[in-house]
Amino acid sequence: MGLIKNSVEQGKHAADEIKKSIEKNHGATYDLVIVGAGPAGISASVQAKLNGLNAVILEQDSLGGTVFNFPRAKVVMTNPMDLPGHGKVKLFETSKTELLTLWKDVIHKHNIDVREQSRVEGISKKDHNFVVTTHDGEQYHTHKVLLAIGRRGTPRKLDVPGEQMEKVAYRLLEPELIQGKNVLVVGGGDSAIESAILLAQSNKVTLSYRSEKFSRLKPKMRAASRMPSKRSC
Ligand SMILES: Cc1cc2nc3c(=O)[nH]c(=O)nc-3n(C[C@H](O)[C@H](O)[C@H](O)COP(=O)(O)OP(=O)(O)OC[C@H]3O[C@@H](n4cnc5c(N)ncnc54)[C@H](O)[C@@H]3O)c2cc1C
Repeated sequence: MGLIKNSVEQGKHAADEIKKSIEKNHGATYDLVIVGAGPAGISASVQAKLNGLNAVILEQDSLGGTVFNFPRAKVVMTNPMDLPGHGKVKLFETSKTELLTLWKDVIHKHNIDVREQSRVEGISKKDHNFVVTTHDGEQYHTHKVLLAIGRRGTPRKLDVPGEQMEKVAYRLLEPELIQGKNVLVVGGGDSAIESAILLAQSNKVTLSYRSEKFSRLKPKMRAASRMPSKRSC
């Protein structure tokens, strides 16, 4: 699975392209505001620094992006990647903790300006620049904006009665704290199966999936679940 690697590479490329299009004497406080501190935003921020840009990252949650929300014991599958400001990361299987430590080290080493708990709620054009506004009214005057907001910024909801209740969750941080419960996992992709396997160790788990087959599973996840490719539900 190379999604984290892809994000890192795309963040780097974006920062390189932005560097080429920066106008001299643009007059804004920042060259670049990066929205989102996941693998893509982190990589872009370090590459921007290496390219001599004055950048800041605004993150609505915590450094790490989706990786920060992985279950603690999750095995993270990845491909070796070239992390700007760090070099080759030769990992195929790693952990959430190891990855977060890596991000934090590289951010610290390059003195990157990260503002956590800063949700971007507005971006408006002002002459040749932009004004980025966060939920608490802070404004950032910048020449360029890079959206590295991933796909989890607004989780897709089921639109069914009751889904706003506290017991309905869109991320699984500490499955080991959930025990002896009846749990319904909705979905049939890798994330759903992985969550179901983790929860099934101490709970009664039911999986609800709208498709006839679990056809989207990666081979490794299929093997872990011992699910035949043609099983229907
Ligand atoms: C359960 C699960 C398991 C996965 N397992 C793996 C795996 O094993 N290996 C692998 O390679 N990939 C895996 N992935 C995919 C991988 O996590 C993503 O591809 C990767 O994190 C994408 O990086 P990104 O930086 O583009 O986005 P993200 O990591 O999603 O980061 C985007 C950031 O933007 C922030 N943001 C969004 N909107 C705003 C806003 N308005 N203001 C400020 N900040 C904002 C979000 O809070 C988030 O921190 C998994 C994904 C999930 C959901």
